[in-house]
Amino acid sequence: MANKKIAKKKKSKKSSSKGPDLLKLAKYVWPLERDILYRPDRLKYVRKLVKAEECVFCCATKNISFDSLSLYQTKHSLIVLNKYPYNSGHIMVIPRRHCGDLLKLTQEEHYDLHDTLRLAMKALNDVYQPGGINIGLNHGATAGAGIPDHIHYHVIPRWNGDLNFFPLVAETKVVVESLEQTYERLLGYFKTRTKA
Ligand SMILES: [Zn+2]
Repeated sequence: MANKKIAKKKKSKKSSSKGPDLLKLAKYVWPLERDILYRPDRLKYVRKLVKAEECVFCCATKNISFDSLSLYQTKHSLIVLNKYPYNSGHIMVIPRRHCGDLLKLTQEEHYDLHDTLRLAMKALNDVYQPGGINIGLNHGATAGAGIPDHIHYHVIPRWNGDLNFFPLVAETKVVVESLEQTYERLLGYFKTRTKA
């Protein structure tokens, strides 16, 4: 009898501890808290986001020059070189207007931007003859946009076997061409486009 009582007690103790156990489980299923991995090297990007004193893309609308990395301009859009390319020929297509929301572009701006995007692809095909092209837009800071207030499509030529292990292990990418060389090659292409 005494044993039964103890067993009952144990059982009730077990059921009462179910609550805290569930909470403990929930903590891992639904992360109420997070472990923080400190990455001081990422701070510069955070600072960049907070500061944003002047928009580099708006600066690039002023003129076509290597200083601003601007290559080509239309009424509503422009093509600029990426200062930190993932691959040789990495360019970006952006609207002229300082706008971080694709849905807030006017119809005319939207058409112009996407015509320019296609022109950027043609330029890469003609100048670099890649096997494929990555086109990407990180919409908003949460989605990874470095400059979230000004939309920018990344247009990146790709070749078979060009992805080496450096980006994965060292956040470093071997780019075979200098920024100046890429700029000259693409500028030559866009100059002929402007005349036509
Ligand atoms: Zn801007």
